Amino acid sequence: MTPQPNPEAGAAVKAADRAHVFHSWSAQELIDPLAVAGAEGSYFWDYDGRRYLDFTSGLVYTNIGYQHPKVVAEIQEQAARMTTFAPAFAVEARSEAARLIAERTPGDLDKIFFTNGGADAVEHALRMARLHTGRPKVLSAYRSYHGGTQQAVNVTGDPRRWASDSATAGVVHFWAPFLYRSRFYAETEEQECARALEHLETTIAFEGPSTIAAVILETIPGTAGIMPPPPGYLAGVRALCDKYGIVLVLDEVMAGFGRTGTWFAADLYDVVPDLMTFAKGVNSGYVPLGGVAISAEIAATFATRPYPGGLTYSGHPLACAAAVATINVMEEEGVVENAASLGASVVGPGLRELAGRHPSVGEVRGTGMFWAVELVRDRETREPLVPYNASGEANAPMAAFAAAAKKAGLWPFVNMNRTHVVPPLNTSEAELKEGLAALDAALSVADEYVK
Ligand code: PLP
Repeated sequence: MTPQPNPEAGAAVKAADRAHVFHSWSAQELIDPLAVAGAEGSYFWDYDGRRYLDFTSGLVYTNIGYQHPKVVAEIQEQAARMTTFAPAFAVEARSEAARLIAERTPGDLDKIFFTNGGADAVEHALRMARLHTGRPKVLSAYRSYHGGTQQAVNVTGDPRRWASDSATAGVVHFWAPFLYRSRFYAETEEQECARALEHLETTIAFEGPSTIAAVILETIPGTAGIMPPPPGYLAGVRALCDKYGIVLVLDEVMAGFGRTGTWFAADLYDVVPDLMTFAKGVNSGYVPLGGVAISAEIAATFATRPYPGGLTYSGHPLACAAAVATINVMEEEGVVENAASLGASVVGPGLRELAGRHPSVGEVRGTGMFWAVELVRDRETREPLVPYNASGEANAPMAAFAAAAKKAGLWPFVNMNRTHVVPPLNTSEAELKEGLAALDAALSVADEYVK
């Protein structure tokens, strides 16, 4: 329901926020959070009555949009039936959610360990890998994001790990494929795949295979730039892990649950990891939930030996009921198919058409409802529109781009020198076209910064 404009209420919400809410990843006095009055489907409204088309899906998690009535009703019914119950008990919402997830995850990933979100799923996946192998180290890619808790941020390959103590955590980073920024080493996807696999095997050799518990990778790195790996890369990583007895963890917290137009990104590459992390889209983020899908072999490690880890709210019934309802909605309404078909027929071609007209667009890449637009000052040199990890004045071109998008009624996802097009998976063709038109206007502003 469209909320009535109410600027005074908005001002009160904002004042309380500014007085008491400590925001994540932010300098508290340099931010200006929008007060949100309501949300429905792919739109949300501020208290002045302005409507925004959400091309971010929140933080890439509202995969079925805001306030889906069937999921809201199921959460209400679960609250009336059984609001909560401790994780040691078998509870219908929890066992049903685990069954529905296990039926969709690839291969023999048939046991589900529930967490409260993505970072703790990563923490537990790495703990399982270390206990399973008896080895200490973890290899992880630069240009990755795995979450904000201690171990998850240590394996993260972006500046957010700089503040944490990665030296003590046995984490080694490597360069996964990214042809657009690897051109001094590779000219084709095939060459980039070979470069990245050789580099990974060399890293394994120098670190000592018998010291490495896990390789963790986002199947398609998300926050770092939505970079689909070249054909053969993930199969090559799988083969290296098998060769050296290393656990392969695929992090599908962002790419999973339909985002790529398949249930999981791993389906696109026909690769089965040993552990797979998920969160976000599992229940469209209506109630916090994440988890680890576990292979038969790793589950067997903990058949008679207790797994030393758990969370008070693991498999919370409200969150699990929301997952059951979300997965059922995705099946009934063909949400994954919608992401695949409109991604291929509307979003991809639409973004490429914009790239043809806007000199600030260096590259467009993605699949399903998972796209990145790389903004540059110079297409030839590929110099990013703003320097790496820019803030303040140095980030002015991206700030101007974002402001122009918002003025045109679009809420864009902006990270470094990129905008990501990651709308809810059930966004309609007309809505997608409306968003592309707003992007067109915003890119004209970015073009002003091109050399
Ligand atoms: N892993 C990936 C791939 C992510 O994209 C994220 C969050 O964006 C996380 C882990 C962390 O998830 P959460 O923020 O739910 O802890």
